[in-house]
Amino acid sequence: MNFDRVWNFSAGPGVLAEEVLLRAQKEMMNYNGTGMSVMEMSHRSGAYQEIFAHTKSQFRKLMHVPDEYEILFLQGGATTQFAMVPLNFLKENRGADYAVTGNFAGAAFREAGKYGTMHCAYDGTKDGFTHIPSQSELVLDPSASYFHYCANNTIFGTEWNYIPDTGDVPLICDMSSDITSRVVDISRYGLIYAGAQKNMAPAGVTVVIIRKDLAGHQRADTPVMLNYDTMIKKDSMYNTPPCWCIYMLGLTLDWLEECGGVEAMEQKKHAKAMLLYDALENSTLFKLHADKESRSDMNVTFRTGDEELDRKFIAEAADAGFVNLKGHRLSGGMRASIYNAMPEEGVMCLRDFIEEFDRINK
Ligand code: PMP
Repeated sequence: MNFDRVWNFSAGPGVLAEEVLLRAQKEMMNYNGTGMSVMEMSHRSGAYQEIFAHTKSQFRKLMHVPDEYEILFLQGGATTQFAMVPLNFLKENRGADYAVTGNFAGAAFREAGKYGTMHCAYDGTKDGFTHIPSQSELVLDPSASYFHYCANNTIFGTEWNYIPDTGDVPLICDMSSDITSRVVDISRYGLIYAGAQKNMAPAGVTVVIIRKDLAGHQRADTPVMLNYDTMIKKDSMYNTPPCWCIYMLGLTLDWLEECGGVEAMEQKKHAKAMLLYDALENSTLFKLHADKESRSDMNVTFRTGDEELDRKFIAEAADAGFVNLKGHRLSGGMRASIYNAMPEEGVMCLRDFIEEFDRINK
């Protein structure tokens, strides 16, 4: 580790691989002999077109995206997808199913409600978003335009460990906080979207994987920037794309490939998470937020039950070089986000700190 840097457990924008940052630094002033930074390049230039094509093909290869799917690099964050999905996918006089398992899943549900009558297929509000529903707990409408869920609930620290079966109803998934951390059978989905700022790149680009035949059925009043069909036809360049973020995504994907791809990440992520879960479970002071079978490998949420002690933990952790461990204001307590770029060493050091804090303060 570079000792000028801290162990950053931020939920997002989150830690990026040091190798990626160093390469960006090296290429900052003069990208590949062009005499300029990628930030200064026209998105129509040959040099940039190559960067764009490379990023896209790396994403297709590493995420095993079948040919029937288009990969888009859009702006507006995952939040814009909350509106874009219903605008493009709602069938006339029909609603859609939403599993509300956390804050962002709820926000997506409410945003879609502006365009039609949405149906809540599961409501986790009653149990404080500690639980991911099993297939049998989902109340599905077979006539729904689509089924929407959020694969990993960043704030509450829960993650789906299966792909729901919705029959012929297209599956739409917000994978903002666990994309590229595991192998995904893309062919099960109609559309997947993810803001990049957790596992992939700086904030500013949203990756969309869309089954091409599902595009082109948008409402007539859909703004041009929110129309998947336009973005497919223009290869995400109807207007200026988030050039720098796409370049950074490409660097991260190169790094991911060197690490062994999403297959390697999937193995590592569970082992990393278990280091923390085991320490927390075996502690006297700490309690975990999520049900055991619903726990996220990306965001580990925990608390002592005493706000004063939580504050002490967060402050002492920061002094020891572990930063951004404060939980989201909606859930309180602590949250350690351990995305792909967080090395196992960082998680082991945090585990040791947790054990030591428990020993001293119990
Ligand atoms: N979905 C999930 C799962 C998230 O974690 C977030 C952001 N933290 C969002 C959606 C919203 O993303 P954005 O800020 O990119 O709009």
